[in-house]
Amino acid sequence: MATYRQSFSIETRGEVQAIDVTDRVALAVRTSRIREGIACVFTPHSTAAIVANEWERGLIEKDLPAALERVAPRGESYAHNPAGDPNGHAHLRAAFLGPSVTFPVANGRPMLGTWQQILFVELDVRKRTREVVVQVVGDPPA
Ligand code: ZN
Repeated sequence: MATYRQSFSIETRGEVQAIDVTDRVALAVRTSRIREGIACVFTPHSTAAIVANEWERGLIEKDLPAALERVAPRGESYAHNPAGDPNGHAHLRAAFLGPSVTFPVANGRPMLGTWQQILFVELDVRKRTREVVVQVVGDPPA
């Protein structure tokens, strides 16, 4: 059993921005040399999320922001906001989407569906520098 961890950072431009990080995640899995196991992609931020879904323009640029607006509307008042931090909706959206995705590693590659990309989702109200962590656990080549 072996473990491998790698991080990379991304610059975002603010809500709601989904960035396809599949290639960078696949590179981390390749670099790990782990052939069979699992990988976890995690972001250590409370107003960002990681999801596995299709990066398709209509879905990502229209439907996802519209759905998140229904889940936690931007203009509502939130108990979090009086602290001088007007991003209560971003925290709630992140809580619903979640900070990580775990998938099988098979034959040294992420086991993802054809229409399934790993997406980092920026939910905060301003541009940020974000960290993404990839942790791979499993068996290296014999
Ligand atoms: Zn906040």
